[in-house]
Amino acid sequence: MACSMHQEVISEIVKKGICSGCGVCAGVCPSEALEMAWEENGDRVAIKVGECPPKCDLCLRVCPFNTQSHDENTLAKDRFEAMSGIQHDEAVGYYLSTYVGYSIIADHRSRGSSGGMCTWMLETLLNKGEVDAVVCVGGGDTHNQLFTYQILDNVEDVRASASSRYYPVDIADVVRQIEAPGEDKRYAVVGLPCTLKALRLAMMYLPRLRKRLVFLLGLVCGHMPNRYYTEYLARLSGVMPDLLETVDYRLKNNKRAGNYSFRAHLRGGAEGQLVPFAGRPSRAWIEGYFQHNACNYCDDVFAETADVVFMDAWLPEYESDPRGHSLTIVRHPILRDLLVERGIEKTCHLEPIPVDKVVASQRGLVYRKKVEIGGRLHRAQRRGEWVPPKRVTPSEEAWRKHRRDIEARYAVQCTSKRLWPKLRKAPLWRFHLRMWRVDWPLRVGLWWGRLRRVVTNPWVLLRMLPRPLRRCCPRSWQRHVLGNSRKGER
Ligand SMILES: Cc1cc2nc3c(=O)[nH]c(=O)nc-3n(C[C@H](O)[C@H](O)[C@H](O)COP(=O)(O)OP(=O)(O)OC[C@H]3O[C@@H](n4cnc5c(N)ncnc54)[C@H](O)[C@@H]3O)c2cc1C
Repeated sequence: MACSMHQEVISEIVKKGICSGCGVCAGVCPSEALEMAWEENGDRVAIKVGECPPKCDLCLRVCPFNTQSHDENTLAKDRFEAMSGIQHDEAVGYYLSTYVGYSIIADHRSRGSSGGMCTWMLETLLNKGEVDAVVCVGGGDTHNQLFTYQILDNVEDVRASASSRYYPVDIADVVRQIEAPGEDKRYAVVGLPCTLKALRLAMMYLPRLRKRLVFLLGLVCGHMPNRYYTEYLARLSGVMPDLLETVDYRLKNNKRAGNYSFRAHLRGGAEGQLVPFAGRPSRAWIEGYFQHNACNYCDDVFAETADVVFMDAWLPEYESDPRGHSLTIVRHPILRDLLVERGIEKTCHLEPIPVDKVVASQRGLVYRKKVEIGGRLHRAQRRGEWVPPKRVTPSEEAWRKHRRDIEARYAVQCTSKRLWPKLRKAPLWRFHLRMWRVDWPLRVGLWWGRLRRVVTNPWVLLRMLPRPLRRCCPRSWQRHVLGNSRKGER
C-alpha cells in the first residue's frame, strides 16, 4: 500500500507547514522512505524518497506536532512523577533542583554559550562511565550543512562541540545509527524541546531506542531560525554565503553576557568581521526573521521532557558578567547527584537558585510560549488554518491584546524567507529596506515599551551607563538597578 492511502507525516505535518525539521520521523522510518532536505525558503523539512511499509504511521506518531501524540505533560509525568523528591511548577514542569553556575574544567566556560555547564555534563557522564557516547552538534562537512548531530565518545571532541548553533540540525542519521541492531550502547543526547519530545515519543515505540537513550539533555529554546539567518549574519560580517566554511555564533568579549559576537569563517582560513549581537542581529532574532513556522506553535520553554535543562542566566545579577552563567534545572536523580558531588569536588561552581528566578530569567519567552500563543492559535482558527492542538487553548483575548505584534511577526517571518533567496547576494540595504516595510510595527512597539519603562521607572536609565561609571554610583542606586530590571521582559 502506498503512503497516500494512510496517514503519514508528509501529508499531515510537512505540507501544512508545521515541520520543525527535527528529523526523528526520518530516523525511525523502517523503510527509510523519508529524508531531511532544505526547502527553497531555507527551512529544513522531511521529504519522501521511497514507499512506506503497509499501514505504517510511525513517522506521524513520533512527530512532536502530531495531533494524536502524547503531549509534554503526559511524557514528563511518565518519566518523572514517581521520582523521589520531585516537584512541579506550571512553567518549568517537573524539577528536583535548580542551580546557577559555571564549569571550572578547562575551557568549558570560555567556549560555552553561557557557563559551559552542558559540556560539563556531557564530559562528566562520559568520564564517570554513565554513558558510552554522547550526541551533540558539531561542524558539518559541506557549506550546504554547516552543522550536524554527531555521536562522540571522547572528551576533546565534546569540548570542540560546545556553544549554541542557531542553525537547523536534524537527528535522522544519528537515530538510525543508535537504533541499528548490534551491541547495546548507552547514549546521552542534547537537544531542543521539539527534538527531545520526538525522541521520547520514539522511545515509546522502539524498545532498542528506549534502552540506549539513557539521558536527554535539553536546551531552553526561544525559536529556531532557518539557514538564512546564518547567511544573513555572515553578510553582516562581510562574507558572501557561498564562501562560508563555518561560523561562531557566540564569541565572548568584555561586554555584557548578552552582547556576544558573531564571526563567519571563509574557506581557506580567512575570517569575516566580528558582529556584536546588539543591533541588527538581535533585532532579527527578536522579530523572528527566518523563523520556522512550527515554532509559532511550541508551548514548551523548559524542555519539559528532558532529564536536565540548560539555559542562559538572563538575570541582572549575572548578565553583567561576560564570562557567562548557566541556569540548570535537573529532573533526574543520577544527574542531580553528579552535579552535587562534582560541585563539592570543585569541577564546577554551583549555587541553588529558586525556581521562580529561573522562570523570571525567561519571562518574555514564557509569556510568548504560554500566553501569547493563545492569540496565535486563535488567529489560525479564524483563518481556517490547521494547527496542532496545544496545551494552551486558542484565546480571543490574547489575540485582541497582541494582534498588532502577532500579525507583524508572521509578516516578518514570511517576508524574510521569501526575500532572502532573491537578495542574498544583493547589497544588504535592499533587504533591510524591503524588511522595514513589514517590521516597522515591531520597532515602534519596542520603542514604545522602552519609553513606557523609562517614564514609569527612570532608574532603568542607570543600566545604560557603562559599567565603570555605574560602579561609581551609590550602592542604594545600584540596588534599584538590580531590583527594578528583574521585573523586565528578558
Ligand atoms: C536554537 C536555540 C535557541 C535557544 N534559545 C534560548 C533562549 O531563548 N533562552 C536561553 O536561555 N537559552 C537559549 N538557548 C540555549 C543557550 O543558547 C545555551 O545553549 C545554554 O545556555 C547552554 O549553555 P552552556 O554554556 O551550558 O552549553 P555549552 O557548553 O555551550 O554546550 C551546548 C551544547 O549544545 C549543543 N548544541 C548546540 N546547538 C545545538 C542545537 N541547535 N541543537 C542541539 N544541540 C545543540 C552543543 O553541541 C553543545 O554540546 C538556545 C539554544 C539554541 C540552540
